[in-house]
Amino acid sequence: MAKTFACKDIGMSCGFKTKAKTDDELMEKIKAHAAEAHNMKQVDAATAAKIKAAIKSSMF
Ligand SMILES: [Zn+2]
Repeated sequence: MAKTFACKDIGMSCGFKTKAKTDDELMEKIKAHAAEAHNMKQVDAATAAKIKAAIKSSMF
């Protein structure tokens, strides 16, 4: 089971997609991307909640 996330699922238009084995690992990748691509040095609680809600579990 993999966890996947796409920026477009939270209304971002950058086309970024990522996946990881766990939510925590995925969150780290998303934070790194957010800092780099969206100049979001800190992911606030509201955004983190949005991201968590948008994380999908995938068989692939
Ligand atoms: Zn993005």
